[in-house]
Amino acid sequence: MCAVMTVKCPHCRKEASLQDNPYRPFCSKRCKMIDLGTWANEGYRIPGEKAPEEEPEDEE
Ligand SMILES: [Zn+2]
Repeated sequence: MCAVMTVKCPHCRKEASLQDNPYRPFCSKRCKMIDLGTWANEGYRIPGEKAPEEEPEDEE
């Protein structure tokens, strides 16, 4: 059964859960940061993370 509400992340178009997702409608903190410009403005970085925009979390 797959009754989880999802939206397309505005940044990477990945399915983003609306449940238990503090970053909704984004799929991840990274996408939210990037989309809001925080990434560029403050040089925000997640230490040790180099993957582009793929976060294999939150699979159904
Ligand atoms: Zn995303």
